[in-house]
Amino acid sequence: MMKKLIACLLLAALLLSLLPAALAAQETKITYTGTVKEGSLHLRKTPSATGKVLNTYKKGTQVDILENDGTWCKVQIGKRTGYMMASYLEIKANYPHVGWGATKDDGTVINVRSEESAGASILYKAMSGGVFEVTGESKDWYQVRVGDQFGYLEKSALTVTDGEFALGFSAKADQNSVTVARMHSALREIGSPMTMSRAEGDFTFSITYPDLGIEAADSEISRWTQQIRMLFETDLRQNHPGSQGSLTVEYQALKINSRYESVTLMGEYKVGSLSAEAFLTLNIDAQEGALIPTASLFARNTPWALFCLESGISSLMSTPTDGYAGKPAADWLQYAALGRTGLEFYLPAGRYVPAALGSRKVDVTYFQLADCLGLDDAFMAQYRRVIDPAKPMLALTFDDGPSEETDKIVSVLAQYNARATFCVIGNKVESFSDVLKRTVAHGNEIASHTWTHPHLDQLSVASIRSQLSRTSAIVQEVSGFEIKALRPPYGAVNKNVRNVCKDQGLFIITWNIDTLDWKNRNTNKTYNAIVKGAKNGNIILMHDLYSTTAAAVEKAVPVLVEKGFQLVTVSELLAYHKDGIKTGTVYSNLDPKNMKTE
Ligand SMILES: [Zn+2]
Repeated sequence: MMKKLIACLLLAALLLSLLPAALAAQETKITYTGTVKEGSLHLRKTPSATGKVLNTYKKGTQVDILENDGTWCKVQIGKRTGYMMASYLEIKANYPHVGWGATKDDGTVINVRSEESAGASILYKAMSGGVFEVTGESKDWYQVRVGDQFGYLEKSALTVTDGEFALGFSAKADQNSVTVARMHSALREIGSPMTMSRAEGDFTFSITYPDLGIEAADSEISRWTQQIRMLFETDLRQNHPGSQGSLTVEYQALKINSRYESVTLMGEYKVGSLSAEAFLTLNIDAQEGALIPTASLFARNTPWALFCLESGISSLMSTPTDGYAGKPAADWLQYAALGRTGLEFYLPAGRYVPAALGSRKVDVTYFQLADCLGLDDAFMAQYRRVIDPAKPMLALTFDDGPSEETDKIVSVLAQYNARATFCVIGNKVESFSDVLKRTVAHGNEIASHTWTHPHLDQLSVASIRSQLSRTSAIVQEVSGFEIKALRPPYGAVNKNVRNVCKDQGLFIITWNIDTLDWKNRNTNKTYNAIVKGAKNGNIILMHDLYSTTAAAVEKAVPVLVEKGFQLVTVSELLAYHKDGIKTGTVYSNLDPKNMKTE
């Protein structure tokens, strides 16, 4: 923890004023004024405590602020310009502060418009859970500000609170969009707020934290707050002697349901114009009176959780190479807090996200993580995909991809909340890595179709092993997906294949309906074969290589859904086998006779 914080300090950069000039066209110039807070204040020629004193001003004197680097303000008083220490000025902007508002945290993207009209042009799109400073209001609209940008939001889209968003927010803009990440919210649903603050010469701190009455959590909060206080105080004395430093800690404390709670402490340390942030996330099982360790929270499929986190981080950046600092490692999962709709990951500036973006919060929904979390069934049941075994199920499967055609199939499946199984050839994965990621992101299953598509029954055990393990490894690396099933090329299986599958934890799928799409290359013929073969528990074979197959699927999916079929992956289908799924076993369908009845 100490090392991490020091690393953050070294990477610390300006967290505020992130909006570049790209939005200049709609820019409203914000100006700031300052009032001398107490005693008298020197106006100096240069931004330095030893700079030549030009004049001295009394408490209450108004100045215009031209620049502010956090330590020194370049100011104008009458015709005179010079520098004053920022900490001795009470600084105000020229727009009214009405309050803070947050958009709903439900994944909707909100249009911020140039005028108070639903027909006005869209200035930018704000992501859900964004925080805005409200600077004005009329009957149906709020005027809001992000950085230098003012715009209008319909009142219904924004919840305005008097709460503190104490540490502000961070924002990012490119030519078409501004996204605002809520870092600090005022939600304090559990615990009693406690504050410690002290000014000690060059170091001041103000730490607000919850007293939860749960020993394990309270002692962790106390340990962490003392630790960062010491760390930052030491940094100040050793690395910035003579400077003023301050540490502010705020928190969010949520009650998720009758059992789970979470607390996030957010610390901001400032010295001069540098600032650094540190986070503590605690997830609490209130029934047990215990903290939930990261390993229990991510009880399964950690690679998938990391993949979701990585996708969330890359969506914050306009280009993938935009200073992206590498793949998140497993230790980063400890910065996740249970939120309203998903896990909230806290990422300090410079850690996985470019320092210039400031610290960010990345949300990953519980729906995405349903496979990973070790929370109780009562909680997870609301996020799991609901399959009704009393209704017919059908498993569409696609071999020999990924290819240019795969995406079309994935899109139509997504549109109908349907899923399928894509049996990929390992050596094609790298060239189609984006296609594979998207396939997985929509909940489809990836099965192994070997590395080079050989007749596995003609290979040595060692070669079979390598054909399967290489494919599993690259799929996991690219998409986070952990392969559970082998679709052997040509359906060729022998004892060695079954044994290797057992070793590698794979079950084997063949098919009981062959559309012969590879042979007919005809949309109607393939479509007819799908619809004719649609019976409860069937596994249908196709190839995501042909435009005719993609077209047939586009046509068939709505028809199958309309007929009441649930389009499921092979793992979803076989989960209803009365004997469970057995590794090394070959399944060509799930005969309704063998279905579990629940
Ligand atoms: Zn094949």
